[in-house]
Amino acid sequence: MVFSLNAHQSMLRCPRCRSTLVQDGDSLVCTNPDVRLRYPVLEGIPRLIVDEATELTSEEWNAVMAKLGMSTNRS
Ligand SMILES: [Zn+2]
Repeated sequence: MVFSLNAHQSMLRCPRCRSTLVQDGDSLVCTNPDVRLRYPVLEGIPRLIVDEATELTSEEWNAVMAKLGMSTNRS
């Protein structure tokens, strides 16, 4: 089963900060630059559990956002 965020995008929020999530491969990444949590997707099911998330470094998070075409500019 291939997980696709599109059908669920409006429903998926980071459980820590309620920001939207973006899909990066087999994981979901919080779009909040102060949180930067990466949640695993196991067998097509997002595991939106803070204890199971890993925190990206600023560099890693910026690379993910850039790859996905997300703007990281903060006005
Ligand atoms: Zn978050």
